Amino acid sequence: MSHQHTLAGAGARVLPENVHCDVAIVGYGPVGMTAAALLAAAGHRVVVVERFPQRYDKPRAGHFDGETMRTFQQLGIAREVELLVRRMNSYEAVSSTNEVLAALKDGDAGSGWHKSYLFHQPEVEDVIDARGRDLGVEVIMNATAVDIAQSGHGVRLVVRDSDDLDGAECTIEAQFVLGADGSNSFVRQNAGIAKQDLGFPALADLAIDFEYDDPDVEVPLGESGHLIEDDVIVTFGRWTGGRISRVEVCKLGDEGTRAYLEDEGTAWTFLAKFGLKPDMGRIVRNSIYTFECTVAERWRDGRVLLIGDAAHTTVPFMGQGVCAGIRDAANLSWKLDAVLRGQADQTLLDTYESERSSHAVGIIRMAMAMGSMVIPAAAAAADLQHGQLQGSDMPDPGAAFPRIGAGVVRNGDDPAAIPAEGRPALQARVGREGRVDLLEEFLQPGWKLITRHPVPDSMLDEDQRSLIEELGLQRVHVSRAAGPNHYVDIDGDYETWFQATGRRAFLVRPDHYVFGAAATIEDVPDLLDTLKDALTSHGWVLGDRLATQH
Ligand SMILES: Cc1cc2nc3c(=O)[nH]c(=O)nc-3n(C[C@H](O)[C@H](O)[C@H](O)COP(=O)(O)OP(=O)(O)OC[C@H]3O[C@@H](n4cnc5c(N)ncnc54)[C@H](O)[C@@H]3O)c2cc1C
Repeated sequence: MSHQHTLAGAGARVLPENVHCDVAIVGYGPVGMTAAALLAAAGHRVVVVERFPQRYDKPRAGHFDGETMRTFQQLGIAREVELLVRRMNSYEAVSSTNEVLAALKDGDAGSGWHKSYLFHQPEVEDVIDARGRDLGVEVIMNATAVDIAQSGHGVRLVVRDSDDLDGAECTIEAQFVLGADGSNSFVRQNAGIAKQDLGFPALADLAIDFEYDDPDVEVPLGESGHLIEDDVIVTFGRWTGGRISRVEVCKLGDEGTRAYLEDEGTAWTFLAKFGLKPDMGRIVRNSIYTFECTVAERWRDGRVLLIGDAAHTTVPFMGQGVCAGIRDAANLSWKLDAVLRGQADQTLLDTYESERSSHAVGIIRMAMAMGSMVIPAAAAAADLQHGQLQGSDMPDPGAAFPRIGAGVVRNGDDPAAIPAEGRPALQARVGREGRVDLLEEFLQPGWKLITRHPVPDSMLDEDQRSLIEELGLQRVHVSRAAGPNHYVDIDGDYETWFQATGRRAFLVRPDHYVFGAAATIEDVPDLLDTLKDALTSHGWVLGDRLATQH
């Protein structure tokens, strides 16, 4: 950065005058900061602008899933995060008369991580933020994005001091701009992109965080779940981090709703249902949010792309808002990396929306279905079936998630396609050279070919070998057999996968999704050819690189 000058305004903060970078990100919420760290880890110069002077110190999300944790693993922060969060081992839905309507045990997601975690958002954001800054992410706080102009060569993002919106400007010249600026996204509106309402009535949600004087105390508050009462759903989590419990009161909006939820007495009434009283601790946050189910009609406008709540919003019943945003970041970052390196033209970026949009909407609809089971009026408005909340009717968070839409993934209509394709790849523990760990802890981020037997070079033609080289594709032989030259399948999870699917190889993309699988090792060359076709039909340039976009 150069030519700094001081702007007027509270605290006389310093805003740089002109900045050049590869990617500018508007919004330093959980999704913007994760995208920033992923892109910086790939070697790009990333600048983030955030309109507030400090990161928001109150949690919104209380849950994230194993897929999110795998992205944290890629960033090298999963173990640190693991110390702060708590596995969610069980979920139950109970009625106001304490009848258990549904109960689930939450286990391993097959991603190498647990299916669900409860967390205190500011603590986890501290870790992502620190990692991003270590990787070179530059963050300009108290800077509001006010204008965006695109040219053939890049994007000009104009920001102003949030305390002096009529004051001097800072111009950020970037190759790409990401709008990670939340549900009321300025970036989306500036691009003239409308939001589609998916048809669920707006819900008002009172989020209460209760901090214990003695967090070790035993209270009649289940691990996690929903308490269902007439027109109210109460979401609860005992361990949102190690010191705090979360209780959320979600109610269909009518005229009296807001006043009712704003009354502090309401918060204590609901806390009391779980045995939480003023002499045991304090309410550290008591805020009302409104939820809508929406999706942006386009996720890309040239060099400007939307991620996180800027692209989609959901009702909170499945705890998937931030998870979806972090999937966006993982999906988009490897594609932007390829474009910035000149490995692909911008056509590749169209696959970001085509893959992610239907996936995000699929999960939003699952959350809507969950809400509709307990709120008849919501079911009617969303044109969904109102049903009893019974075990078998429960959408299963995780197992039933849709595959990603069409893009750099083997066509789902291909007769050889299997359900594992277009979904997160298996990751399990392996052993090698005296060490036992999750497989990806031994590998570099990027493309991987996981196989039951070795794939010798002699089996591949020149094109296939150069594809492997250009992608930096890592060949990973995993077997239960003893031997020094492969990864030992310690728990047999890979063998179980190979046997259950009838496949002996699977190709994993940099965002951990399975591109495709092969029935035998002899079919691996065909799988590589299919990958090559998929990449080249979406803008990948094999052989000579494009003039780099730096
Ligand atoms: C009560 C509640 C409970 C939830 N529970 C869960 C859960 O359990 N699990 C889950 O996965 N999700 C949950 N969610 C959803 C989750 O919090 C959101 O999906 C997530 O915060 C979206 O992250 P984001 O980074 O996209 O946007 P945000 O967190 O909204 O961040 C956007 C950032 O952009 C900044 N910004 C906006 N405009 C500008 C501008 N013009 N210039 C500069 N900066 C700007 C904002 O200040 C903000 O910091 C919950 C949400 C709420 C409210």
